Amino acid sequence: MARPLVSSAQALTQAHGALTKEQRDRLTPTQVLDALARGNERFRSGAMVSRDYRAQQRASAAAQFPACVTLGCVDSRVPSEVIFDVGIGDMFSARIAGNVVNDDLLGSLEFACAVAGAKVIVLLGHTACGAVKGAIDDVEMGNLTGLLARIKPAITATTFSGTASSKDAAYVDAVARTNVLLGLDAIRRRSPLLADLEKKQTILIVGGMYDLSTGALEFLNEGVPQGAAMVR
Ligand SMILES: [Zn+2]
Repeated sequence: MARPLVSSAQALTQAHGALTKEQRDRLTPTQVLDALARGNERFRSGAMVSRDYRAQQRASAAAQFPACVTLGCVDSRVPSEVIFDVGIGDMFSARIAGNVVNDDLLGSLEFACAVAGAKVIVLLGHTACGAVKGAIDDVEMGNLTGLLARIKPAITATTFSGTASSKDAAYVDAVARTNVLLGLDAIRRRSPLLADLEKKQTILIVGGMYDLSTGALEFLNEGVPQGAAMVR
């Protein structure tokens, strides 16, 4: 029997199944992005899909065909699958403190898109990020020192009229935003493979800022701040 047609709206909202190859391949990158935006709207409005995770686990055990990949922070309050309201098998999810981009994560993104067929990369920053605060405060501790150093170019590249302090929530969020924009630039610059897929419109590479207090995800459209290239 033919599989029922699944629209882009339904594709990432299944209660029992996991995305099939046909369903995923039928989606355009724009439709996947649209499905993510609608998933966040469901999350925000409390209208999340009620999922049977055991059924999804069984349906996806033999193979996976995720439509997208997120690179977000380890913050316990920003679980990508939950804030986008997707199920098992729908999304690759990479997480690292401060959602910084390094070679291993670029490799993970390349795997997700070039090998496994994901169509959208979301680089996901968030408000009140502890890693961003740590970078602003020059925290030095074990291996964290090196990780926070990757956020520091965003501090240099952020123009802010108020007090540049980790205690100023607006400043912390401004740096987090710049950190996402620089991260997008780094993905395109340091992964010719992903830049090429984007150029061919096989994938979309987008930034997002998640608001811890509202649950809302804002997709970022602006470019890298002027002069930022000089600090990388
Ligand atoms: Zn964070």
